[in-house]
Amino acid sequence: MATLMSELIRPEIKALSAYHVPDPGKLIKLDAMENPYTLPDDLRQRWLETLADVPLNRYPDPAANALRHKLADYMQVPASCEVLLGNGSDELIQMMAMAVAQPGKKILAPEPGFVMYKMIATFVGMDYVGVPLCEDFSLDMEAMLAAIKQHEPALIFLAYPNNPTGNLFDATDIESIIRASRGLVVVDEAYHPFACTSFMSRLVEFDNLLVMRTVSKMGLAGLRLGLLAGAPRWLNEFDKVRLPYNINVLTQVSALFALEHANVFEQQAEIIRQQRQWLYDELSAMNSITVYPSRANFILLKLHSADATEVFNQLKTQGILIKNLNSAGGMLSNCLRITVGTPQENQSFIRAFCSIVD
Ligand SMILES: *Cc1c(COP(=O)(O)O)cnc(C)c1O
Repeated sequence: MATLMSELIRPEIKALSAYHVPDPGKLIKLDAMENPYTLPDDLRQRWLETLADVPLNRYPDPAANALRHKLADYMQVPASCEVLLGNGSDELIQMMAMAVAQPGKKILAPEPGFVMYKMIATFVGMDYVGVPLCEDFSLDMEAMLAAIKQHEPALIFLAYPNNPTGNLFDATDIESIIRASRGLVVVDEAYHPFACTSFMSRLVEFDNLLVMRTVSKMGLAGLRLGLLAGAPRWLNEFDKVRLPYNINVLTQVSALFALEHANVFEQQAEIIRQQRQWLYDELSAMNSITVYPSRANFILLKLHSADATEVFNQLKTQGILIKNLNSAGGMLSNCLRITVGTPQENQSFIRAFCSIVD
């Protein structure tokens, strides 16, 4: 059996480890960039009433037209552009990669960055090129432009803001990359609710630009719903590799309901942005760490002398789960990432963190 496995499974898949998500148990969960708030009780009741009418025996609308139009409207997708939905933006990344994957074709992204770009390149048999960021996590434009020229990537992913560093890349740098690339450039705006800036309106300026969003970080991570906006010319092709009914009926109905109450999520995002500032100020007052400015709903920090894995484990014994990035190495060695939680959760984190580190 072991030899059959070795024969059948591609070596690059055998070399991977499965995407690991720790079981939070009863821990305060500040590891996964989730919105800490749920729906208010009255809205939750009305949502449940909406769900009661959903015909579970029928397939969902395969194109999810009502939801697509509502999302296009809410996210201010330009009129000349189309919207394609994915089971999370992860699935959209996979669809784009599947549509362009050919021997020798490459995906390029700055590093450190979102790990799924590289993982999905591997899944579909594409080469992946990671280009290191500068020390301050800005784009190393010399290196980026050289790599684009050398590798001619079919797809470039730029997370805006970037995960796990939290910063926004310079918009004129992104513009230069779009102009220098013959391939597609995907600006991944997963953290748009906390960044308050976007390339969405600029889709009409560039033939090779696509903008990706998700409802995950705004408070609907459980629905698994992402969207890609861009010219119909591109999206019509990506739509061909989409599995039918990829957006299930409960997600379609729930997301439509949520968008009718978008102000609730916007108010939550506002509180999270304020709490991000509070956390940043508290952490900045500490001498033993470097805190990086963030335009997302998380904060990256680097420990000067304490050991990140030890601090991570101690926080866990005190009931708090964050993300330990130490094993990623390189620029992330001895780094921790904290998702912004409720005021109470953030205070608990600061109290525990100070008792361990300072
Ligand atoms: C979280 C995240 C996503 C994933 O979004 P889903 O819609 O939940 O799949 C995409 N891009 C970046 C940069 C992220 O951090």
